[in-house]
Formats: sequence, structure tokens, C-alpha cells
Amino acid sequence: MANKHNRRSFFSKAALAGAGLIGASSLASYADGLVAAKERTSHASAPSDLKITNVTCAFVKEGHDLLVKIETNQGLVGWGNAVDAVNGSYYMVRNMGNRLKGQSPLNPNRIQEDLRKGAFFGGAQSGVYVSVMTAVEAALWDLTGKALGVPVYQLLGGKFRDKIRVYCDTVIKSNGNPTPDDYARAAKDAVKKGYTAVKFDIDHANDPNKYDKYNWTAGPAELDRMYNSIAAVRQAVGPKIDVCVDMHGRYDATTGHRVAKLMEPLNLMWLEEPVPADNVDVYKRITQETSTPICNGENLYLGYGFTRLLADGGTDIIMPDLQKAGGLGEAQRIANLANLYYVPFSPHMVATFLGAMASCHVCASVPNFQIMEWQTYMDTDPMFKEIVIYDKPQVEKGFITLSDKPGIGVDINEKALKKYTPQGMPVFA
Ligand SMILES: [Mg+2]
Repeated sequence: MANKHNRRSFFSKAALAGAGLIGASSLASYADGLVAAKERTSHASAPSDLKITNVTCAFVKEGHDLLVKIETNQGLVGWGNAVDAVNGSYYMVRNMGNRLKGQSPLNPNRIQEDLRKGAFFGGAQSGVYVSVMTAVEAALWDLTGKALGVPVYQLLGGKFRDKIRVYCDTVIKSNGNPTPDDYARAAKDAVKKGYTAVKFDIDHANDPNKYDKYNWTAGPAELDRMYNSIAAVRQAVGPKIDVCVDMHGRYDATTGHRVAKLMEPLNLMWLEEPVPADNVDVYKRITQETSTPICNGENLYLGYGFTRLLADGGTDIIMPDLQKAGGLGEAQRIANLANLYYVPFSPHMVATFLGAMASCHVCASVPNFQIMEWQTYMDTDPMFKEIVIYDKPQVEKGFITLSDKPGIGVDINEKALKKYTPQGMPVFA
């Protein structure tokens, strides 16, 4: 058996090289995945007879993360993850699941279109509905990959890269209001761990310089605090490390504009959501009037959320959240749309490692991938390593190695997940 496999590998690679489709040096890294995947194709399962039998869910992080489990008549299980607008979405999963039962999971794009258009108004969906659909859709890709013996990136058309660069969304340890020194220390710690890019928040609701908790115009003292914090980061990490700044869409247009101009000498990778995500005209004005790259997208849904933003030049970089934007197929379509405008794709990521690895398959499959988010707490909170089973380190020196296993390539430890399920919330029921 081993000989047969070896011979088949040799012929497959030789055929590709002989046809001049790939050079000898890239052959190993790009053809191996496909060849190995072909050899792994499951003979125990008959993909043509595969049917969905049950769709259930569980929640972690106080309901912030939704995990969807799709079971089949052949014992194969698919997993999907969604975040943010998913709290209390148990009945939505059940409803979508009832529509999926008896169907083959091998058509994620078609099922996503059925779900998207099958609710009210023939497709004009957003928010919770799209987030839940995202987890269901990802679980379908996971199942399809497992049934056919190929990783999700292969189903998405293959990969541009083997490793996914991540930036560290950095948590600052301080007593209340962090000082520039606190920022600098956190930045140095992240770089010491091997990250080549860091991100910091500068929106502080408890900034003592604020006069009113509802008004989000930053005065001179607050602007000073913002600038000094990030200047300390730049000084601490030097000129070669990428620095991103997040304002969480909280400020008004004047402040967003002023902060973007203020940050220009600090050569940021991007300034994220300087104003709320919705108004493309304001984004366009800020983007066009500053050399600081502006980034938007974690609160936009489906490809439609990005059409006008991209067409009007309302952002320099997009950062869709791939656990809520509409699915892995939809995420690839969004990335490809951005690529037509020469806009980089830098996904937001606040999910579990299941969501992180699912995102990695999309990031690998598009040319314009720039960098993906990674959370400091995923390195320190044991829950993240317990609930998702992966046989390699999750992140190493600022990169995630793309899984070559069938499907998304990670598994869920249901026992551990039950331990972390918030009280009163369902666990795969
Ligand atoms: Mg953000």
C-alpha cells in the first residue's frame, strides 16, 4: 500500500512539474498538500450518500462564541464557530438545522444561499442571523473536507501560503488608566514572543479627560494621551514592527480625522474604525485626507457590506470578521472583491482556535491576505487550548501553520467545552 502511494505521489508531482505548471522548488510545498489530500480521501464514507442528521450548538465566553455541530448518517461531524451577535441564538440554530436535515452537506455555497435568501425578505439579512449562518456554513465546509479527505483551503481553490501571519491584539496590564510606559512594556513583550505586528486600543471610556460619557469628541488632553501611548509603542518596537491602532468606532468624525492626522508620523499599519462603521461618506473623507491607512469591516456583514465601501474608496484595508461575515465562502468572495480594488484583506479574529483555523484556510486561499488578528488571551487563558484539539502549537513566532488535515483540521473536546459552558446555556442539545 505504501509503495502504491509513493508511486502515485511521484507520478502526480512529476506530471505537474512536467507540464510546467509548477517549478521544482515550489513543487514540494504546493503539490504535497493536494497529493497527500487525494491519498487521504476517505474510503470508509461514501460522499454521495452523506446526509445531515442533526444540527446542535453550544456557547462559551458568556455566550460570545457559538459553536455549531453538524452530525451525519456516516458518523462524520462538522464544526463551525461564530462570534459577537450570537448570544441566545439557540432557536435560530435549531431552525436552520431543521432545514438542513436530510440534505447533503457537500454544497456549502448552495446551502448558504438557501439560508441567506430563505429567511425574510429574500436575503436582506444582517446581524445575528448572518452570524449564526456563518457558523453553520463553516461546519459544512468542515464536513465536506472530511468527507472528501481534503483540507478546506483545497476546496477553496488551493493555497497561496503555508503560514498565516498574525498580529498580537495586545492586552495592557495597568491599574485603571494605562500610561505610555504600560503600552511600551506590552509592545516589547509581544515582540519578544516573536510577533511582528501589534495592535493597541486607544478608546478609553474611563479617560479622566472626558467630560461626558455619551459625547465622543476627544479634547486636547485625550488626543495627547492617545498620541503619547502609541508614540511610546513605536519607540519601544522600533521602525520595523507593524503597529495598528483601534478606536472601536466610538468617536465622532472630527476626532477620527484628527487622530488619523496625528498618527501620521508614527507610520501605522492601520487605524481601525476611527468612527462607527456605518457611514461610508465619513470613511471616504477620513481615508482620503490622511496618509494613515484606514481599516474598517469587523462590523459589516456579507459581501454587500463591503461593496460601497470599496467602490467609494472608503477604506484602505478591510478586516471582515470571518466568524460573522456570512461564512468561509462569503469571506473568500469579500477578499476577492477587495482584491479588485487592490485593497488588502486582514481579518478580525476574536473566536476560538476553531474559528482561527477556519479563517486561516480563507487567508491562505486569496492573494491579498495581509495579516490576521490573534488575541493575547488565547496564549494565556487555558480554556482556549482545552476546548479545541490541535496537535501543533496554535501560534509560533507570530504565525499559524495552516492545517493539512481534512476539513478545518481541528477537533472539539466536548467534555472540556461543557466545563466552560455558561450556566443555563445549552450544550449540543
Ligand atoms: Mg476592532
